[in-house]
Amino acid sequence: MNGTDLVVLSAILVAAIIYLKFDTLKELILSNDDDISATHGGSNDIVQMMQDNDKNYLVLYASQTGTAEDYAKRFAKELKSKFGLNVLCQDVENVDLENLHNLPSHIIVSFFISTYGEGDFPDGAVNFEQYLSTAQLSDLKYTLFGLGNYTYEFFNMAAKKALKMLTEADATLIGKLGLGDDGKGTTEEDYLSWKEETLETLHGFINLSEESTGFKPSFKLSFVDKISDDTYLGELTSDYLPSNNFTPPTTVSAKHPYVTPIAHAKELFKSVGRNCIHTEFDISNTTIKYQTGDHIAIWPFNANEKVEQFMTTFALQPNKIFNLEPLDPTMELPFPCPTTIETALRYYLEITGPVSRECLSVLSEFAPSEIKEYVISLSKDKDAFAQEITAKKFNLADALLYLSQGQAWSQVPWECLIETLSIITPRYYSISSASNADPSTIHVTSIVENDTNEITGSPTLGVTTNLLRNISLNMNDPNSTKIMPVQYDIRGPRNLYGGHKLPIHIRHSPFKLPTDLSIPIIMIGPGTGVAPFRGFIRDRVHSVGSGDANNMGKMMLFYGCRNEDDFLYQEEWPEYSSKLDGNFEMIVALSRVSDKKCYVQHKLKERQQDLVELLNQGANIYVCGDAVRMAKDVQRSICEMISQDKGISIEDAGEMIKAMKINGKYQEDVW
Ligand code: FAD
Repeated sequence: MNGTDLVVLSAILVAAIIYLKFDTLKELILSNDDDISATHGGSNDIVQMMQDNDKNYLVLYASQTGTAEDYAKRFAKELKSKFGLNVLCQDVENVDLENLHNLPSHIIVSFFISTYGEGDFPDGAVNFEQYLSTAQLSDLKYTLFGLGNYTYEFFNMAAKKALKMLTEADATLIGKLGLGDDGKGTTEEDYLSWKEETLETLHGFINLSEESTGFKPSFKLSFVDKISDDTYLGELTSDYLPSNNFTPPTTVSAKHPYVTPIAHAKELFKSVGRNCIHTEFDISNTTIKYQTGDHIAIWPFNANEKVEQFMTTFALQPNKIFNLEPLDPTMELPFPCPTTIETALRYYLEITGPVSRECLSVLSEFAPSEIKEYVISLSKDKDAFAQEITAKKFNLADALLYLSQGQAWSQVPWECLIETLSIITPRYYSISSASNADPSTIHVTSIVENDTNEITGSPTLGVTTNLLRNISLNMNDPNSTKIMPVQYDIRGPRNLYGGHKLPIHIRHSPFKLPTDLSIPIIMIGPGTGVAPFRGFIRDRVHSVGSGDANNMGKMMLFYGCRNEDDFLYQEEWPEYSSKLDGNFEMIVALSRVSDKKCYVQHKLKERQQDLVELLNQGANIYVCGDAVRMAKDVQRSICEMISQDKGISIEDAGEMIKAMKINGKYQEDVW
């Protein structure tokens, strides 16, 4: 029996252990989570909450990065405003579901569930998953929409598992399981067609007579005269308000990010329209801890030009200070208040991403009269919308000004914009430093996302990556930021980010080196996919330096870039190699140096013999970077390799890879 066969056998064993140790394992994962705030006291009993607040429809969501939450809230809002239902919309993490089986049978539940990692439920949904696995819910009627990404092996697996468990619990699915696919970029349209069909089917179960189609606010908006120490000027939490003496949180999490100094930043390469930034956060005076292979979450804010364009489009008064009060006590504020209009646009709302058809539909009510009919028809026509708006890569302001030929949309109420736009979310990066070698800094390697809109001539850009570039340029030569297409107010709210700082938190990831240093590792990471492998190698170099590395296994890194100009950390690798004493080998695929394109999967083929040998010794495989093409191509290559080596079919080799994934022997960190 060789190493690969052992892998399959041990996969079965590990699967059994995972099953038996489910509770312990989940606890372990939970202890590493972004935010552990599940409260299960009697006061948040779901049935009691429904009764106390006179609700007749329940929407529950399990969200990892906020997308499922966003869709759940939109669905709840539509049921409320269009059909007059009294909807309770809650995160499964924050409610006690033990009594769900006692929910009156006329109340329907709509679930929105994201899939995270290797087909897992979101971190905050551990108790929910456990509850479903043993629940008896024969009176429950529900709808279900999953949010996933087809590029992952376990596409929408959490929603599929929920469906299986709900079926076994005897609950009744209304309509069909909806599957949103972020990999194809179709989540919005998947949701809209699922919603249309589901609402049709729901008619047969509850009274859904359309009361009104117009916008109905969920919050009472009031204006405030003066800025005080309690006014939010971009602070993400009350921790940093003057009224709290700008006291940083002691426990850093997604709900309490830490404004962290940037010690060092530089441009790794620059070619026309392409930049890559290396940023180092200094965590020495913080309670932030990370492990090699973890993710850092960076909280961005919008560029000056984009904020100004948005305010002009809607004729908004930037300095107006406003407060929001939920009209329904079960609803939370979308962002901290009181605050100013400009602050909300700069720090709290996503204003530059692609436009959704539903957003246009909501705003169409307030379109300038001459174009109103056209805007309404465009928002109802999937194909025309795709061609006229999505394909043109417009943000909301671009799209509306294009439709109105430059005329401001001054009739749109501010409350409507607040409720229609998404809330700004942090962006995740694979940490490129090592926790043992770099305990006081976290390194990020980010490619700057940049494009010029062909129609407006204005830049279409990534919010965070351009912010990081702006900071990097400013740190090295303040005048050089002029070359950027946009500028950011990098001093932050009340100069909180002055001296180059940004709010961050850590998300722990299962993407980890084996603790047994003798296990060989095969790493595949083209482009910025090399980020965690720089961390892995620095980790191993540190182990050698501290004498912990007798009998270290072989390390092969397959890296890909266009040519020598965009070769990331080119000067560092030879040094690592010499310190690792021949155990580390880097194989580089340069895709644009000859007529024949060469990618990492070609290099894998060339080194098939060595790879098979390492796999038979029980090597771990790690893949990081592009999920859409690269990770699939790499998996196909390795599958073919195993199939040839073992003389088995591609299907059987695919099953072996699946087993390796379950076993942690084949790990992916792809996006
Ligand atoms: P966003 O503002 O989120 O925009 C995303 C893209 O949409 C950009 O390309 C932008 O140009 C485009 N866009 C903006 N507006 C529009 C519009 N109106 N129409 C059409 N397109 C538009 N990235 C790295 O570089 N390095 C890493 O190590 C890394 N690790 C990651 C690890 C994980 C776990 C995950 C999930 C992602 C990782 N990423 C990494 C990707 C990273 O999180 C961000 O997605 C990326 O940097 C873009 O963020 P942004 O805020 O700059 O762009």
